[in-house]
Amino acid sequence: MAEDKNNLRTPIVCVMGHVDHGKTTLLDQIRGTRIVKGEAGAITQHIGATEVPIDIIVEKCGDKRLADKFIVPGLLFIDTPGHHAFTTLRSRGGSLADLAVVVVDINEGFKPQTIESLNILKRFKTPFIVVTNKIDRIQGWKVHQGESFLSTYKKQTPEVQALFEQKFYDVIGNLYEQGFSADRFDRVTDFQKTLGVIPISGMTGEGIPDVLMILLGLAQRFLESSLHYDINGPGVGTVLEVKEEKGLGTTIDVILYDGTLRKGDTVVIGCLGEPIVTKIRALLKPRELSEIRYESKFQPIPEITAAAGVKISAPDIENALAGAPIISTTPETLNGVIERVKSEIDDVQIQTDVDGVMIKADTIGSLEAMVHEFKKADVQIQKAEVGDVTKRDVMEASTINDPMHSVILAFNVKVNPDAQELLDTTPAVKVFKNDVIYRILDEYQDFVKEQEEELE
Ligand code: GDP
Repeated sequence: MAEDKNNLRTPIVCVMGHVDHGKTTLLDQIRGTRIVKGEAGAITQHIGATEVPIDIIVEKCGDKRLADKFIVPGLLFIDTPGHHAFTTLRSRGGSLADLAVVVVDINEGFKPQTIESLNILKRFKTPFIVVTNKIDRIQGWKVHQGESFLSTYKKQTPEVQALFEQKFYDVIGNLYEQGFSADRFDRVTDFQKTLGVIPISGMTGEGIPDVLMILLGLAQRFLESSLHYDINGPGVGTVLEVKEEKGLGTTIDVILYDGTLRKGDTVVIGCLGEPIVTKIRALLKPRELSEIRYESKFQPIPEITAAAGVKISAPDIENALAGAPIISTTPETLNGVIERVKSEIDDVQIQTDVDGVMIKADTIGSLEAMVHEFKKADVQIQKAEVGDVTKRDVMEASTINDPMHSVILAFNVKVNPDAQELLDTTPAVKVFKNDVIYRILDEYQDFVKEQEEELE
């Protein structure tokens, strides 16, 4: 791991965008980043994330002197792509992701999840870049594996360049339609005013050095104040996933963004109801591929410091909630920490007596995003809760007399079989279910319009 400069932690980066536009391929390319056997450190694999140290980035960009110019130790890429991961990774009132990359297929342009990603980033005020992916698919494009964009661009024929320009500026046009002033990254002078767009191929690695460099630049320029962390302070993180692991039972994958966690630490973890108080049995990181002979994929470690991804094994964590906080504590601070964790969960969930719709979502973060979008559209909410749609939810919704409120809006969750059975015989209750928030909102608004027209 690179040395921390001025105690700034590694910025956390999320990759977002429409399905099939190349998020996973881009992350694979970054994970596979290797330099010829050199002095630079190696990529570090975390649980749920990949850390690219600054030395590798500057070496890839061909100018090692740059290393001294940057204040952050590298970049930590969250391995799960999509806005689902982004909204799960929340800290109070904001996102854990310090930076984001929105992937757009240059041959397809904007799609619903592209717009949703941009909306989420706008709301969280997260600095981000857009990459126009799959430039290698442009007819006649000659691949120059792993080169910077300008270097490969200059080697294309004028015809291919013209074809590229046309597609590229279509995407820039899409961004303008969404209210963003945007331009090709090398022409941007002020990244605060203008969104930088980088043409890349996740497949061939073209443009990837530019992506890494521009992300570092954004971190440098916009994040310094938010990246200070207390290496000796309590460990503070967010639960990314609750997972069964062979031989370990239930474990939680955590992204740690402040302080240090140690084996044996008492931690408080958010769940529905009273927070979990438990003791860390083991902190685990992925084993190197060369150690695959070991039975377990994971290696125990005594402690870990932010920013990092780690797997935690501990008793009684079955009900831990994706997106919930986890904080280590001493006996003296225990009550305060319990309060803090509880109120972070309570802040997002809603339970009122006013007539309104019911919202169900899969994580605290996605629930927060749903609630935000529906409140913005002036929709009255009676209840907002994490979890699948249950029979009880359907029963509750059926007691509401107003058809516009006898509605369950379900984001990324299942309808339980007994709930479905009841729904089949309860036509008064409507369920709108989707994995794109604004599609649920659109469908709901169309439904409301129909209802109003019927009333007239
Ligand atoms: P995701 O759903 O956004 O994670 O998209 P994937 O990374 O799974 O990519 C979807 C498809 O596009 C896969 O078949 C990839 O191999 C392909 N793909 C992704 N990036 C590129 C690229 O830069 N060039 C080409 N030619 N294909 C790509």
